[in-house]
Amino acid sequence: MDELFDLPPQRGQRLDDETHRAVFGDVPARLAMSLHTPEVGDLVLQLLDRGWRRGQLAARIGALPAGPDPVGDITALLAGFLEQVPPDARWRQEKTEREAFRRAAAFEEPASDASRQAWITQIRDDVGARRPAPREPMRRTRPACSLCGQESSYFVTRAVRLCDACVEQLSTGAMQLPNVG
Ligand SMILES: [Zn+2]
Repeated sequence: MDELFDLPPQRGQRLDDETHRAVFGDVPARLAMSLHTPEVGDLVLQLLDRGWRRGQLAARIGALPAGPDPVGDITALLAGFLEQVPPDARWRQEKTEREAFRRAAAFEEPASDASRQAWITQIRDDVGARRPAPREPMRRTRPACSLCGQESSYFVTRAVRLCDACVEQLSTGAMQLPNVG
């Protein structure tokens, strides 16, 4: 049942006379007639569906300077509105932002120790959340080789472990095992 109300406006539809008058009532009659097309109707219905009000469209269309191609200009104007946040929604956005600013400003005024402390904690949390998690230390599955520090393969004594490479070096005599305890 819900879907019925969420359906987008039907495509390719001329505006009903009342809506057409409300949106294009202020333009010359002949031009208004040229605008009574499915293409323009489609744009207006999409805009109304997004929260534009008829009067908002009418005011902007009325303010458009006259040019050689008024139908094209008005069509382009309406198509451009599809890219914008509708005025009411923009106003709500700005109001929300203004209120957030006001709250932040109130916070910055000299306050009790308790609220200042809460504010500092909040900032620390925010900073902490932005900071990347500390890198996990490299996990060593086996103790380090006593000569080079790489992962060892050989247990020599409790204190001395060796890796493959160092064992190789030792076996060729290129390296001496230091002081095996
Ligand atoms: Zn080694």
